[in-house]
Amino acid sequence: MIARRSPDEIEAIRAACQIVSRVHGALAERIAPGVSTAILDELAEETIRSHGADPAFKGYHGFPASICASVNDEAVHGFPRPDPLQEGDVLCVDVGVRLNGWFGDGAFTLAVGELAADVERLLRATQQALGAGVRAAVADKHLSDISHAVETIANEAGVTVIQEYGGHGIGRELHEEPHIPNHGAPGRGPRLQVGQVIAIEPIFSLGAPEVVVDEDGWTTRTKDGSAAAHFEHTVAITKEGPRMLTEPRTATIAAAG
Ligand code: MG
Repeated sequence: MIARRSPDEIEAIRAACQIVSRVHGALAERIAPGVSTAILDELAEETIRSHGADPAFKGYHGFPASICASVNDEAVHGFPRPDPLQEGDVLCVDVGVRLNGWFGDGAFTLAVGELAADVERLLRATQQALGAGVRAAVADKHLSDISHAVETIANEAGVTVIQEYGGHGIGRELHEEPHIPNHGAPGRGPRLQVGQVIAIEPIFSLGAPEVVVDEDGWTTRTKDGSAAAHFEHTVAITKEGPRMLTEPRTATIAAAG
């Protein structure tokens, strides 16, 4: 069952999402060569707790930290580490927040220091795909219209969808129904409805689609060692269109055709 939330409930989810957004802002300012992801994790936890919220990832199925910090070939679920980021690293940061029993989830990717041309293409495509997925999150469209919108951008940019991961419903739990693949034909799956709240999260790589999980049981990296990127917003489907709850100033954006 896909939950539908009232406007008041969406506001409660948005409050959690706005803390995600603040953490993103605080981390983006700190990310630089020489800074460790462990320090970023501490900063994230402090920021979350200063707003009276909890880091949703910490302890989730045993995950040890407040952020996922996935560097270079790590696509998702990387552990924060004490070793410093290096010039040229690509860092994906994923942040989850629980506030008053409601969850928010969002991710972004940044290059540390100077941006290589192929990495710039990867980051731009992944971010554009998130936008395309959000614009497809419109009542009466089908779930896979989001998937197709995301995949289309990857294909156009010549980057690869990591198919094992995707978006999800969110609200009372960090991960709820439905799973939202980042690939597939349009017009399939349930119809989207006003009140549904979903996390849309394209995860792309510069190489092959296969990933492997490290012995830690979490860190997921591309099998061929190519760089990966990940962007995510929590989005409410409203009468007025998709509303990005994790945007600094929550915006309702014009629906795609
Ligand atoms: Mg997520």
